[in-house]
This record gives sequence, C-alpha cells and structure tokens, in this order.
Amino acid sequence: MTAASLSGAPVAKVLRAELEDRVSELAAKGIVPGLAVVVATDNESTHWYVRSIAKAAAKAGVDCRIIDLGPSASSAQLKTMLTELSEDRQTHGIILQTPLPDGVQVDELVPNIETGKDIDGANPLSLGRLAVGLPAFAPATARAVVEMLVHYGVPIDGRHVTVVGRSAVVGKPLLHLLLERNASVTICHSRSRPLEDYTRAAGVVVVATGRPGLVTDRHVAPGAVVVDVGTNVLEDGALVGDVDARSVEQVASALSPVPGGVGTITTALLLLHTAVAARAAAETEGVLVSSGIVRSLG
Ligand code: NAP
Repeated sequence: MTAASLSGAPVAKVLRAELEDRVSELAAKGIVPGLAVVVATDNESTHWYVRSIAKAAAKAGVDCRIIDLGPSASSAQLKTMLTELSEDRQTHGIILQTPLPDGVQVDELVPNIETGKDIDGANPLSLGRLAVGLPAFAPATARAVVEMLVHYGVPIDGRHVTVVGRSAVVGKPLLHLLLERNASVTICHSRSRPLEDYTRAAGVVVVATGRPGLVTDRHVAPGAVVVDVGTNVLEDGALVGDVDARSVEQVASALSPVPGGVGTITTALLLLHTAVAARAAAETEGVLVSSGIVRSLG
C-alpha cells in the first residue's frame, strides 16, 4: 500500500477563500482586521516566519503590525505591550512569538493576552474555555490538524484517535477539538510504553513530539491515517517530521507530508481567527449583528 498524501495546500486554499469573504464583509462596514505580532529575539528564522505571516496578511487585507521589542526586552515591557494591545480597538488578534529573551517566562506573559484576541490560543484561559466547551480560539496548529482531517473526509465521529504528544500547543487542545467532534481520544507522551500498543489501536494517529522518525511502520495499523505535526531541522538542514515517512507510507492509507502538511495551514488559520475576532468585536460594539461565528470556529 502507498499512502495518499494529505497535502496542506488545498486545505489552506479553502481557508483563504473563507478569509477573503470575511475580510470583504468587514470592509463593507469599514472594518480592517488588525493583527499584532510581538517579537523579542534576534533569531533569524523567527523573523523570517513573522515576515511570512505579514506578507500573507497584506495579501489577504489584514493589517499586520510586527512589534519588535528586541532581544533584550524585559518581562515588564512585554507585559505592558500585551496589555496595551489587548485594550487597543484596532487590534483584533495578538501573537506573542517565541523564543523570548533569556529569563523571560512565556507562562507569565500569555495571561496578558485578552482571550477574545488570543488567536493562537496561548492564554491558559483559552485552553480552559476550550476544555469546557466555551467559545475560544484553539492554537492554530491543533486546529490545522482537524481542518486537514475534515477537508480530506477522514471520519472523526466515533473514531479512536491517538495523539502522541501532550503539549499545551498541540496535544492538549487537540484532545478537546477531537472530543468536540465525538472521537475517542488517547493521548500519549514519553512515558507511554510501549507506544505502539496505543498507536496501533487507533484509526487515526497524530504525532507531535519533536522526535524525528519516532513513529515507524510498526506503530501504525494497516490502513490508518497518520498526521505528522513535527517540524525538525536535521544537521544537514533538511526539514523532517516525527514520522518515518518511508516505512509508514507502506502501511497507512494516508499520511501528511513534512514539509507541505500541517504547517502549510497554520498561517491561513491565524489570519482567519483574526477576521473572526474582528467580527466578534464589531458585534459586541453593535456594528454587526450576532452570528455565533466565534463558537462555530473556535
Ligand atoms: P513539546 O512541547 O516539546 O512536546 C513534545 C511532546 O512529545 C511531549 O508531550 C513529550 O512527552 C512527547 N514525547 C517526547 N518524546 C516522546 C516519545 N519518545 N514517545 C512519546 N511521546 C514523546 O513539543 P510541541 O511544541 O508540542 O511540538 C511538537 C512538534 O510539533 C515539534 O516538532 C514542533 O516543531 C512541531 N510543531 C509544529 C507546528 C507547525 O506549525 N507545523 C507548530 C507547533 C509545533 P512528555 O510530556 O512526557 O515530555
């Protein structure tokens, strides 16, 4: 068997079309969705990534401001900036980009992002709201996995999904997004042994560990769908996932590629979340009538 490729590009294309509709609807009311990306590092790949978000935003009609506080920014400066942006009426979405300066703890900063503007689900309140079924933005990467499965018609309802990785960015929010869609979910981590006992029992396996090649053919039941969230840069500069694609392709019915899979979808989702947040803000201010959109997109 050679697995079908769950390419991210067609999924992102559909999401960009939805974004275009939302941006046009807002423009008709004189509203431009505003995204602020706060950066405090001189890490070149972070700057490259942030510029790529700004470029995509410009194309989509989203006003994106990169706020670079420099690699020696203090925790207090970052907190003040996040608080100001949370209160700023022109800013609808806020991203705090990691890495942060040495000694600055991300956990101390993200609670300062107002949940209605927390378009990458970084504030722990967003995860808590998601857990109890209240409207909230999920981290774009976790949501990208669900968007991918839905786009390719992979059944989730009533299915056993095993997620390898329990981070607050991927594994934990994914648990709630999948439960919301009536999957039975198993979450694995570094103490889940033997890992294959959990992964082979599932019809869908999602891998988000940061361990290149962790999941091989022996971890996957014949015909299962495998989504690889991992992005690892090897010593030779190659970008690879957490799944050993060459062996898994032989047993899985479908596999997402790296690069070109989940990562391709996240920027479109961040912008879409910003447009959703802008609409919700306009509804609150009485500029637009309520549509329940935040609940349906989350
Ligand atoms: P993380 O915070 O380091 O979490 C890694 C998780 O994997 C932990 O829960 C860890 O278990 C688990 N793990 C590690 N080794 C394992 C093993 N041998 N067996 C089973 N589980 C194991 O990582 P993350 O932020 O979630 O990111 C995971 C991967 O996704 C990385 O490659 C990252 O680059 C990628 N990522 C991609 C995107 C994208 O847009 N495509 C976005 C975010 C992240 P413990 O909890 O027990 O330590």
